[in-house]
Order: sequence, then structure tokens, then C-alpha cells
Amino acid sequence: MKTLVVAGHGMAGHRLVSELRSLDPAGSWRVVVLAEEPHPAYDRVALSSYLDGRSAADLALPGPDADADPLVDLRLNTRVTAADRETRTVTTTTGDRVEYDALVLATGSKPFIPPVPGHDLPGCFAYRSLTDLDAIRGAAVPGRPGVVIGGGLLGLEAANALRLLGMEPHVVELAPRLMPVQVDAAGGAVLARRVEDHGLRVHCGVATAAIESGPDGRAAAVALADGTTLEAAVVVFSAGVRPRDELAAPAGLPTGERGGFLTDPLCRTPDDRIWAIGECAAVSGRTYGLAAPGYRMAESVARQLTGRPAEPFGRPDMSTSLKLLGVEVASFGDAHATTPGSMALTRLDDASGTYAKLVLSPAHTLLGGILVGDARAYATLHPFTGHPLPPAAHRLLAAPAP
Ligand SMILES: Cc1cc2nc3c(=O)[nH]c(=O)nc-3n(C[C@H](O)[C@H](O)[C@H](O)COP(=O)(O)OP(=O)(O)OC[C@H]3O[C@@H](n4cnc5c(N)ncnc54)[C@H](O)[C@@H]3O)c2cc1C
Repeated sequence: MKTLVVAGHGMAGHRLVSELRSLDPAGSWRVVVLAEEPHPAYDRVALSSYLDGRSAADLALPGPDADADPLVDLRLNTRVTAADRETRTVTTTTGDRVEYDALVLATGSKPFIPPVPGHDLPGCFAYRSLTDLDAIRGAAVPGRPGVVIGGGLLGLEAANALRLLGMEPHVVELAPRLMPVQVDAAGGAVLARRVEDHGLRVHCGVATAAIESGPDGRAAAVALADGTTLEAAVVVFSAGVRPRDELAAPAGLPTGERGGFLTDPLCRTPDDRIWAIGECAAVSGRTYGLAAPGYRMAESVARQLTGRPAEPFGRPDMSTSLKLLGVEVASFGDAHATTPGSMALTRLDDASGTYAKLVLSPAHTLLGGILVGDARAYATLHPFTGHPLPPAAHRLLAAPAP
């Protein structure tokens, strides 16, 4: 029997184990999963619901690794510290040395904490894991302000989490608008107004200069570059992520330009016994910060390990459609109209707080779009990406949604 070692038991690692066990009923592989976190894999996408009534058990992902499958040896609280490609072993923080026939790196990402003075004070947190959320819950002071650094999708989720904990949330974003990746200036303005209606204070286009401490040595305020100081009993950083590729350099594995274990479109590193999947993988040089691409990578590697043909990993769909703080936002395709010759049809309705933008090619095919405040048309429009504009789109732009 061969041994597969999986480093990391997050969403991609979990999917790999599930997929492999279902493709390998004869049990030609035993799987050793080395997992840094104290919890077995959970639905990180739904992490915020942990502060809204769901328990860690509710978020746990079901599968063979959770069900005491005899061919799956899941070791929690166990971080891989090194991979030795000569002896095909990994070593761990628990002092184990585990031999592998195949090694899959599924170590995810770590939150980027901007190196501003005071970033490491007690009372400063990341927003990535159940452990982070336990710490934030423990530090929250109802009725007091809390500041989230970063106004992207996760920053807004974190701000909502502070609100659920009874705090008064502020969001600081360096870019001139919220969710700058998904929405344009007009959409960002509508979004800011709508989230402010839900009690958030938004500060865009300003950098964070420092986190200041109070007399107890804990974070007490956030100083902004424009001279403003925001009181903050809790500070949450949500300023992007970086792939966790720290095992690469000591093992002589290459990384992508912006980090991540460099792989080919089949998620293979240059070592034919080592693959990388999920957020830690730079597939053909590109990393992906969403769950679905990681699932596709996991499924591809499971097929390869069981001798099945696997599809090379192409450009995934990075569309976003969500309801955040009661505000619907959708963004898909070429939302920012970067395609040469493209044109944008927009409708802004200040009264209802909605914004719609459709990006068309010169031949009038739908290239992408943005919907803020009312994203019901997303389900109709999104499948038409790359095709002529459907009649529903004209209606969408003609009048505000009822
Ligand atoms: C609040 C929040 C909301 C999100 N919302 C969405 C969403 O709406 N849609 C979406 O598609 N995505 C969303 N994401 C992103 C999504 O959760 C990630 O894309 C997905 O979890 C990536 O899976 P992964 O397995 O690559 O990494 P992870 O799930 O991060 O798992 C990696 C695991 O590896 C462990 N690890 C790291 N290094 C080692 C080591 N050396 N040894 C052992 N273990 C190690 C880590 O501790 C972690 O448990 C969200 C993320 C967050 C935090």
C-alpha cells in the first residue's frame, strides 16, 4: 500500500481526501493528513456564521477523514515543518517523521498583516480561522467601536461580525471605494451608502498609519494617515492574504512571482511526487483565493493519484454574488470594462440605492457586469457572459427593480 501525505486540512485538503477515498475503493492508498489547526476541516467560506449562532460542529465538513476511515490518519495540531525530497519524508512540530509516496501541499494562505506600528498589540486580530474568531469574540466589547483594516469582501464580513458582537464597526480601506476588486466607483458609492445604513462607518481612500495602545497596553485606537484617530477596542486586519509556501525554499521547490508553490496546470510541482492545491498553489504562476478553484485542483490530483485522466486547470470563473449586511452585490466577467473597445451600460438609482452596470463588446456580447443593491438579475445574466445580451438585461437598465 502506498502512502499519501497531505499537508493541511482545510477546504482543499479535505476535498482531496474525500475524492481520493471515493476513487480508490480497493484502498491502494493510505492517507496521512497533517493538520496545523486544532479543528478538522470546516467550511471556512461560512466562517462568519460561527459568530451568528453556528457551532464549530455545524461548520465541520463531513467525509472519510471525519468518519474514522481506517485508511485516513488525521493528525490535528500537527504542522509540517519540512519536506525532505531525497528521503521522501516530512517532519512535523510533534516530532513525527512521515514517509510518503506522494505529497500534496494544501497549506492555504495566511492573512497579510500590514507592518504598521502597533500591528502586533494585544487586541489586534486576523480573520481566517475558528481560533481567530474565538479570540475576537473574547475581546469584543459591546457598545465600543471596533475597526476593520480592509474594505474588501472579507473586511465587510469581519465588520458585520463585530456588529453581531454588539460593537460599533468601522472599516478603513486604502482604495477609494469598498470592494475595489469587484465594483467600480459608482457601485462602491452605492455600496458604502447601503452598508452605512446598516450601522457601519466607512473610511475609504486613507491608509492606516499606526495602531495605538491604551494604558493597559492593548490596542485602543487606529491612527489614519489623514490625521484622524478612530477609537478601537478591537482591531481586525483583513488586508488580503499571502500563500503559505514557507515549505518551498528549504525543499528547493520553486514559487510563483507573487508566492505560492509553482505548479503546472495539473498542479504538479517539478518534483513528480509533490503536488500543490488550493490557495497555496500558484498554478501556472497564478494563485486563487476562492474555494471552488481549490476543489477543482483537489479533484484533479485525486484523479491523477488513481491513474485517471485529469483535466488541466484553466482560468476559473471568479464571479462573486453575495448578500452582505443585507446588501446584495454581484460582480462577474470583465466588470471593470478592461477589454479593448468594450462599452458600459449603467443605471444608478439613488432613491432605491441600486446600481447596475453591463459591459458589452463592440459586437454586443455580454462581457461582464456589476449589480449593487439588487442582484436578482445576476442568475439570469451570468450564464450569458460571452453571448449576446438577453432581453432581461434591457429591462434591468430601463427601470429600477420593483
Ligand atoms: C471569512 C472568510 C470568508 C470566505 N468567503 C468565501 C466565499 O464566499 N467564497 C469563496 O469561494 N471563498 C471564500 N473564502 C476563501 C476560502 O475559505 C478559501 O479559498 C479556502 O478555504 C481555501 O482552501 P485551502 O484548503 O486552500 O486553504 P485553507 O482552508 O486555509 O486550509 C489550509 C489549512 O492548512 C493548514 N496549514 C498551513 N500550513 C500548514 C503546515 N505547514 N502543516 C500543516 N497544516 C498547515 C492551515 O492551518 C489550514 O487549516 C473565505 C475565507 C474566509 C476567511
